[in-house]
Amino acid sequence: MSTKIFLSSPHMSGSEQRYIREAFETNWIAPLGPNVNGFEQELQEYTGAPFAAALSAGTAAIHLALILLDVKPGDLVICQSFTFSATANPIVYQGATPVFVDSEPDTWNMDPASMETAIQACLSGSLTGTPKAPKAIIPVHLYGMPAKMQQINAIAEKYGIPVIEDAAEALGSSIHGKKCGTFGKFGILSFNGNKIITTSGGGALLSDDGSLIEKARFLATQARDSAPHYQHSHIGYNYRMSNIVAGIGRGQLEVLDGHMELRRKNFKRYKAFFESLQSKGYSIEMLNEPEGYKSNRWLSTILIEPEHNKGITAESLRIVFESHSIETRPLWKPMHLQPVFEGTPYFGSGLSETLFKNGLCLPSGSNLTQEEAGRIFNVLESVFI
Ligand SMILES: *Cc1c(COP(=O)(O)O)cnc(C)c1O
Repeated sequence: MSTKIFLSSPHMSGSEQRYIREAFETNWIAPLGPNVNGFEQELQEYTGAPFAAALSAGTAAIHLALILLDVKPGDLVICQSFTFSATANPIVYQGATPVFVDSEPDTWNMDPASMETAIQACLSGSLTGTPKAPKAIIPVHLYGMPAKMQQINAIAEKYGIPVIEDAAEALGSSIHGKKCGTFGKFGILSFNGNKIITTSGGGALLSDDGSLIEKARFLATQARDSAPHYQHSHIGYNYRMSNIVAGIGRGQLEVLDGHMELRRKNFKRYKAFFESLQSKGYSIEMLNEPEGYKSNRWLSTILIEPEHNKGITAESLRIVFESHSIETRPLWKPMHLQPVFEGTPYFGSGLSETLFKNGLCLPSGSNLTQEEAGRIFNVLESVFI
């Protein structure tokens, strides 16, 4: 049996261990320490965000952003439906209700028109019985493709609602050179095991408001007031990144741009293959970058409508790959279809449902070898040619 090919697996640079060794040699085996400060500084430089707090997870970053925006029980928060559950769960941690919004076809992310309809429904009182302005809007840059931030921000500003950008999958992606994570009041990043860079687990909160990031750091370290004893006037969290984990992040940042180029190369190779199938009567779609957009191509994704592809479905392709020990995965199942969010308000025309039905993520790691790529394309050829 051949070794398994994963969708996206950790790809170390080699210098992670140097940063960790330094932490051991100086006995900084704690949350906080020089690697945490260094990682935050380097994240700020890389993204262009003026302030960054390194945290234990991307989910923790979303949670803190909602707390800092004073999201409370009974509040409404607009959230992209087509995403991973970690985008929406922190809304519920705060006792608030998500209002889910569908995607648009150019980026597969939050549809600005449906978003405005959702805001108006909140304001009209048709959702809760009392008119209520949403407390925040959470768009997501899925698979690395930036959402339509210009349009989203313009509508958000019109209604005075802050934006939390979920850039967990989009570190390195940009619109006209401006990095994802820097368009909203807050941006959040994830360094979980399968993301474009990983610290084994971790996240960050970005903002151009230094006092909010200072507050995030305070809340993330158990909200200790300044006193010689343990004194608390707020409920705190244990959400800080450790100095060891931050050392891994510093090593990973060194290779981020290189790894992004490798992922973009994977995408191009898949795209050339699927384009070549058009002359054979297939029509498999991949998402193009709108003008000025750059995707880190975290995952290469395809859409297969069986009616236009001789009956081949995303699921039948996934099963063939699986029989060759190659991992592929359906696109995210929209939140408004998830049992746990049954009955939650949703606005849109159902594009995200079609994406879930016909979509598949292909192996996209920056560490795919020639031999592994050969195995993947052999399977594709066996299915389509
Ligand atoms: C991974 C991910 C998160 C959560 O990040 P963690 O670091 O795993 O907590 C949130 N949103 C999206 C879109 C993600 O892909």
